[in-house]
Amino acid sequence: MAADPAGLRAEFDAVIGVVLAEEDLSWPDVPALAGVAGRAGRDGIHTEAMGYLAGRAAERRPGAPGSHVVSRRGREPAPQASGDTVSVLALAREIAEAVPDPELPMLTLADLGILRGVSAYGERVIVSLTPTYSGCPALAEMRGDLARRLAAAGLQTEVRTVLSPAWSSDWITAAGRCKLAAAGIAPPGPAPHRGGPVPLALSPARRDVACPRCGAPGAEQTAACSGTACKALYRCAACREPFEYVKEI
Ligand SMILES: [Zn+2]
Repeated sequence: MAADPAGLRAEFDAVIGVVLAEEDLSWPDVPALAGVAGRAGRDGIHTEAMGYLAGRAAERRPGAPGSHVVSRRGREPAPQASGDTVSVLALAREIAEAVPDPELPMLTLADLGILRGVSAYGERVIVSLTPTYSGCPALAEMRGDLARRLAAAGLQTEVRTVLSPAWSSDWITAAGRCKLAAAGIAPPGPAPHRGGPVPLALSPARRDVACPRCGAPGAEQTAACSGTACKALYRCAACREPFEYVKEI
């Protein structure tokens, strides 16, 4: 007995709907493909529109902020149009977002802004991270912690490193800045926006840092590096309390 195209339509739409949602794409609305949301091809059984969708997905740069596009190259199973993929993705994202930074344990990967993407293909999860700066020892620790937590939840995981666009301290979220201040650590000021070569300076950077305890401006830097290279040590001019400052980069 021949398959009834109308009966396949709902399943087709469900599968494609998951793919579109994962790639942050919407149903095409160009006139030549107007039928795809209802009928494609002559009798609703052709898939010409898939070429258009594949092209749109391929031109989206893998690893860009907010992008969930990864290179599949046929290695991963096709996304399943079931509630399982959605719940695996939600679980993986919740676990990944909550992994703490070992150097600034009050901050999570989400607070730091280094989580570039989470995708789920069946039970398989791919997480993309961006290093805060090259050589940061915390990244290896965070990768390991992330993989352990996802494995403990029964998920097969691959953690990928995304280098472009580079992270800057501007990516620390508002919530992350509040958590730093609440912990007595001054959050970073605006990151310098450079084009071309990076200038090297022999004298320490001059910043107007406010005390996270009393709010007084004009704190004095007492050490260029604190317990970790990403923080400097300051002393408040008003209350005389020492405190750490997360450097802007
Ligand atoms: Zn103070």
